Amino acid sequence: MLHTRLPVAWVRAGHGIPTVCSRHGLPATLRAHTGFESSPPGWTYATIPLGLFLFFIVRAATRKRVEAPVWHYCDRCRALRRNARAVFGSATAAGVGIMAAGFARHVGDPGILLFSLGLLVAVIGYFGLTRTRLAVIAQGAVTQDGQWVTVARPAAEFAAQVDAAYRQAQAQAQAQAAAVPAVPQASFEEQARQLLREPGR
Ligand SMILES: [Zn+2]
Repeated sequence: MLHTRLPVAWVRAGHGIPTVCSRHGLPATLRAHTGFESSPPGWTYATIPLGLFLFFIVRAATRKRVEAPVWHYCDRCRALRRNARAVFGSATAAGVGIMAAGFARHVGDPGILLFSLGLLVAVIGYFGLTRTRLAVIAQGAVTQDGQWVTVARPAAEFAAQVDAAYRQAQAQAQAQAAAVPAVPQASFEEQARQLLREPGR
């Protein structure tokens, strides 16, 4: 399955959220609040040539965020996050260190080179760190219309639990519809029949 999706109202209410992790379909060892975000609309990338700062402003203005009070993560999810944080955190720190070393030198070729190298390593480390957010581990994102949280490449167990939640909701809706008595129409017909039976009234 390429992706599965949950209504935003369910995600916000913690309704129909599977009890396994979305990435591996394994039993949860961590229940955590997770903030899902929409990816930037394609056209926003056209603002990059005008400057990264403008891009980040447009990105923030068009971003839709949905807070999930509960989402589940397994041990493998947690290890993945821990390791990625260690690697990219170290890279960011090393990059800043190299920049500082380049800055400490007198202005000259080696200094500029070191500084540029440090900047590159720090930027790579920083973007790597943004990929260790829980929502990215969960492979979840908000759709552009803000109505759904989609999970890309969900584990089969996770998708099955989502399907079960949909079936349950559908059964409930049908039961409620059946429980509503068709009184108004029947009584109207009954009244009409009575009027025909007693024309003098
Ligand atoms: Zn997992």
